[in-house]
Amino acid sequence: MMPTDRDAHPVTLPPGFSWPAGVRAAACFTFDVDAESAILAEHPAAAGWLDVMSHQAYGPRTGVPRILRLLKRRGIRATFFVPGYTADRWPDVVRAIRDAGHEIAHHGYLHEGARSAPDIEAEEERILRGLEALDRVTGVRPVGYRAPNWELSYRTPALLVQHGFLYDSGLMDADHPYRLATGPEPGARSIVELPGHWSLDDWEPYNYLPGITGSGVIASPADVMARWDLELEALVEVGGLFMLTNHPFVTGRASRVVALERLMERAQSIDGLWIATAVEIAEHVATLPLDAIVHRPHEVTPSP
Ligand code: ZN
Repeated sequence: MMPTDRDAHPVTLPPGFSWPAGVRAAACFTFDVDAESAILAEHPAAAGWLDVMSHQAYGPRTGVPRILRLLKRRGIRATFFVPGYTADRWPDVVRAIRDAGHEIAHHGYLHEGARSAPDIEAEEERILRGLEALDRVTGVRPVGYRAPNWELSYRTPALLVQHGFLYDSGLMDADHPYRLATGPEPGARSIVELPGHWSLDDWEPYNYLPGITGSGVIASPADVMARWDLELEALVEVGGLFMLTNHPFVTGRASRVVALERLMERAQSIDGLWIATAVEIAEHVATLPLDAIVHRPHEVTPSP
């Protein structure tokens, strides 16, 4: 860590927020097992493109086993957000994640973002379809949700509460977990929010599929880890949550896992840093005396 004068710069946590005794910040390693689904949702014709499908299949076929070995070596339990379609297509891989003791959480069915849902019924149908697939394949009833493409509507939190979820992980307006109100009305129910950010997502620096995603500039794992290490260090300083999002088809590549292991080693060397699954963090946050944060929809009147 950088030398700092902690007495001169005491950490100010949000009102009502605290970490468990002896903890000053938390890190959560998460893996979104998109596999083919993220491409198929936006490019249905890709179902017939073997080259593109093989790029995505790298995740369950090669990336997940390598990541499971890494997590076992480091003694870290992680959270895997699994689209229902991935569970249906790769049941043995998803069961292997479960059997290794990691958390299985919800990530839509065919990775459809909320903005493409025409109404609340369609959005709810996707949540239910994902739940059914995870139950059918793993017998797991997830309590955590991460929206495909990080796309949430103002109605998503209420749907999650209605269907028994404990937490969402995907909003981007805080360094610390918080309680998220499902609506602006007094007494509205709430859910735990574990915020993330694009800068702690491996898709942007690494991913390139010609004509589909990425610029063709693929970042060095050394550069990506340097960036994430700085963010880890800075979030520990403010007592926040380091919520890292990796995709097995992206970060499961050989040198990227080597780099990720170095970051994990570094995290494990930081005193007072709690490395936990998302549900463990959410269960702690659920006990805190937090006022729920209300996100009010914008009503914009264009200027004349
Ligand atoms: Zn995803």
